[in-house]
Amino acid sequence: MDVLLVEDDNAIAEPLIRGLERQGFVVHRESTGLGGVAAFHSRPSVDIVLLDLGLPDIDGYEVCRRVRSDSTVPIIILTARGDEIDRVLGLELGADDYMVKPFGFRELIARINAVTRRSNAPGTTKEDIAKLTGDVTLDSRTRKVTVHDEDIQLTRKEFDLLALLASDAGATQTRETILEQVWDAHWYGPTKTLDVHVASLRKKLGDPTIIETVRGVGFRLRSNADNDSAS
Ligand code: CA
Repeated sequence: MDVLLVEDDNAIAEPLIRGLERQGFVVHRESTGLGGVAAFHSRPSVDIVLLDLGLPDIDGYEVCRRVRSDSTVPIIILTARGDEIDRVLGLELGADDYMVKPFGFRELIARINAVTRRSNAPGTTKEDIAKLTGDVTLDSRTRKVTVHDEDIQLTRKEFDLLALLASDAGATQTRETILEQVWDAHWYGPTKTLDVHVASLRKKLGDPTIIETVRGVGFRLRSNADNDSAS
């Protein structure tokens, strides 16, 4: 697996690279934000981006935004800044996860495995393409989602979340189930992450009512049956 590490601090980067290489990862490291963006675009083999926020030129948020503008590659933000506002901003810009320094190497490997794990969210139907409510289609084979026949760009987690809800439209998925299936059985990040992803997904789908909040329980996809009874 190819890792792009964007980190300007040698004291953090060097042991990280050694550890990742020992685990069989191929690591390419950049020390600047612009270098990171350029390296990403010149290396199509990159499977995951590990991204520091405090970089000498453009910051990690901007790197995240630029990489995310045309790619769904998993991004984990490595941040020394612990406050909530930064973390939420990172997720809103399309990062899949973040880790606050200092972090344990094992935890990092677990997070890498969690975000790169090929989605095993259950398929939507026997066919690859499912027509969801409100003119949304979801193609589980190509992982493409369209709204009114227009492609929309979802991050890997957003797609997995939508696919999970779509696997049983109308049924409520509990927060625990979603975190377990879409993130990882060992997810112990903030549950706020889920809300941020739901908010972003609603925005991209252009209709906040497609995903309903079931207060205190979880979320459900509005089903076509709901539409029929409403009209
Ligand atoms: Ca830094």
